Amino acid sequence: MQNLLIKNGKVVLFKQDDVIIEKKDILVQNGKITRIEENINCENDDTKIIDATNNVVMPGLINTHAHIPMSIFRETTEGCKLYEWLNEKIWPREDKLTPEDVYWASMLSYFEMISTGTTCINDQYFMPEEIRRAAMDCKVRAVITRPIMDLEGALEQRIEEFKEFYESRDRNDELITYSVAPHSLYTCSDKCIKATADLAREYNLPIHTHYLESIDEIEDIKNKHGKEAIEVIKENYEGIHIILAHGVHLNKKDIEVLKTMDCGIAHNPISNLRLGCTIADTTKYLQEGINVALGTDGQGSGSNLDMFEAMRVACLIQGGIHENEERLTAKQVIKMATINGAKLLQLDDKIGSIEVGKDADLIIVDIEEKLDNITMVPNLNEIANLVYNTSGKNVQTTIVKGRVLMENRQMKIKNVKIADVIQKCNKIAERISK
Ligand SMILES: [Zn+2]
Repeated sequence: MQNLLIKNGKVVLFKQDDVIIEKKDILVQNGKITRIEENINCENDDTKIIDATNNVVMPGLINTHAHIPMSIFRETTEGCKLYEWLNEKIWPREDKLTPEDVYWASMLSYFEMISTGTTCINDQYFMPEEIRRAAMDCKVRAVITRPIMDLEGALEQRIEEFKEFYESRDRNDELITYSVAPHSLYTCSDKCIKATADLAREYNLPIHTHYLESIDEIEDIKNKHGKEAIEVIKENYEGIHIILAHGVHLNKKDIEVLKTMDCGIAHNPISNLRLGCTIADTTKYLQEGINVALGTDGQGSGSNLDMFEAMRVACLIQGGIHENEERLTAKQVIKMATINGAKLLQLDDKIGSIEVGKDADLIIVDIEEKLDNITMVPNLNEIANLVYNTSGKNVQTTIVKGRVLMENRQMKIKNVKIADVIQKCNKIAERISK
């Protein structure tokens, strides 16, 4: 792998609790960050120099909750509530998907995430072999699983499918990791929840599940399990690391219990707003010491994988529930999209911040003062501008473990062209919507 020297960038660094920007050069050797200093000179002629003058260099964004092939369901939520959308729009169309469809729909998402600055994504969707195959072809970082639920029975079969999928992994692949994913407490029986806890313990994997996304779930879960959602979580998953997607409707008791557990929230503000699930009080969760990271959810409900948009909305909506109070800041939301996400996915020893020794998962963001960036002028507060006035389209270059996947907005994925991905996905969308 070619070594990289990123010159003259304004580098986003985490110093104690603060987020700062300093002008530094970054040397990347064998996929790892080896030096972060002023004026590094290249001793080795083979090193590729990337000029980041007038640009921000920041950790690659980490999307902690998505359904990667759901790119194919973009803009199907209009006017629907969660249950109605799943039952009437999504599940009938999913029945028509072939493995090849899932591969191309995943490709569309990987191109989307690379082009908007996300370097790692946490998935939960069926036909995971295809999602993994596409991830390996694109060289992105991903947490993949075979979701488990037993609304229609077949629990043993789902468990077997998970085991078969997990056992078929390439043990040398450092970019793909795994979770055990009970879909949700409202689609999993008691027996199913227990079985997923057993799997997580057996394989030493985290749990990734939807949790209290909509108000309707609270009663449904009580009826199904005979107890409150938080009691089901505590009884079954104590001692296991848990990634809870959404957590919109956490009450005082939920927060008290979750504080004592090894868990965190994957907050998906845009999907929550699109499906009328209201607003998770992430300001309070963070104040209480619960780790909160950021996600988009699938494009079916979240519209897109642009984590800059998710950061902006995550900050803005806190003003809708906190009047004249301290609330989520731009610095906090940048951490949610990077280091908090790495912690939530148990990858913070490798990614989530720009530090010597970590893998080089980096993005270069164009903030040059020019017509395209006119909303950033004057750029006196670069951190706030990154959150409020930047979109994924500002991302120039995306690097995963030292490999350049996009450079100056040119995709570098071998053997796959964006025009082919678009054509294939349009055809699939047309066919399954009939
Ligand atoms: Zn979801």
